[in-house]
Amino acid sequence: MKLDATDLRYVTSDEFRVLTAVEMGSKNHEVVPTVLIAQISGLRNGGVNKLIGSLAKRNLVSKVQNSKYDGYRLTYGGYDYLAMRALSKRGSVHSVGNQIGVGKESDIYIVADADGKEMVLKLHRLGRISFRAIKEKRDYLGKRKSASWMYMSRLAAQKEWAFMKVLHEHGFPVPLPIDQARHCILMEFIDAYPLRQIAEVPSPGKLYSALMDLIVRFARAGLIHGDFNEFNILIRRESGEPVVIDFPQMVSTSHENAEWYFNRDVECIRTFFKRRFQYESALYPKFRKTVAEDSEDGENFRLDVVVAASGFGRKDQKILEEYMESVQMDEPGTDEDEEEEEEEEEEDEEESEEEEEDEEESEKESQKSSVVDGALRPSTGATAE
Ligand code: ADP
Ligand code: MG
Repeated sequence: MKLDATDLRYVTSDEFRVLTAVEMGSKNHEVVPTVLIAQISGLRNGGVNKLIGSLAKRNLVSKVQNSKYDGYRLTYGGYDYLAMRALSKRGSVHSVGNQIGVGKESDIYIVADADGKEMVLKLHRLGRISFRAIKEKRDYLGKRKSASWMYMSRLAAQKEWAFMKVLHEHGFPVPLPIDQARHCILMEFIDAYPLRQIAEVPSPGKLYSALMDLIVRFARAGLIHGDFNEFNILIRRESGEPVVIDFPQMVSTSHENAEWYFNRDVECIRTFFKRRFQYESALYPKFRKTVAEDSEDGENFRLDVVVAASGFGRKDQKILEEYMESVQMDEPGTDEDEEEEEEEEEEDEEESEEEEEDEEESEKESQKSSVVDGALRPSTGATAE
């Protein structure tokens, strides 16, 4: 999925109205009926058809023929456009550069502001892989059938934003979060290599301790990273210091499976150090001891509580967690080397997945949106904009 920055300039204000109407309509319709698009945009029917045709030509929306009615849905491209437009209107992003990463559930770009300062833009793409599997297990979603890629991707971005902010404010080595819109996060560019790409370090023991100390520091602040591995640890090029990224799966130490998540993070580091640096230590943190100590020393603030209070509440966390757990269950094997190869095959699935959806009455509060400054923004406290 390419992010087409050139498109940003070639959408007229009427087209933008229509695109925004499709986004709003998709809160309760997986396929937004053309009449509804006309209604929301406040433009005459005939005019809308032409505008929507030109949006469809540029793949910002796509036409879906439904058994009940014909309509349109927003594409990734359309959603990207809306987010980029919001970031650019606010002056956060001025230009888009190279794509530096394609994760399973994100795309990463280098972007710059008007002064040419480089930053990292992460676009969350939940549902790219396993949406079909989710649909099959639809019962778990209960009333939340409308849990679409758009909604899940936005939740993931909001969660990552909330955690990155709180962690950065409390002095954890994470990138500085700069802005957030829809499914996107803008953050500081770290001049670093992922640990995964590093063949040698001056002192594996020192780095090992630094990483284990970080796991402990997280836990004492009530948090477990949940994906603490060689892909999500960057090593600064100049200083060799670690920086931790990628937070959509963070859990609280009060989570019912906290110990399991904690041990998995610890084990990831131990395994990697054994394999890559032939470094093994008898010392590694134990969950119970670590959390029991948190009340004894000074650092007993609970960042899980701070995050929950910051707008990304427990309800949102729960919805995202259910989604992530159900995706994880669908993943064959957990060996990372294998996973990398599987990614490519799976990407092809993305287009055909979200049809056959019936109209949706029940709607999540947090999906409510309103038009602000000509751009559509979530209206709940769920974003930290
Ligand atoms: P995913 O959820 O797809 O794993 P990540 O947040 O882990 O996404 O980012 C994927 C890759 O993009 C990282 O391994 C790293 O190489 C690069 N990257 C992400 N954020 C930054 C950043 N702030 N600075 C530099 N590189 C980054
Ligand atoms: Mg990652």
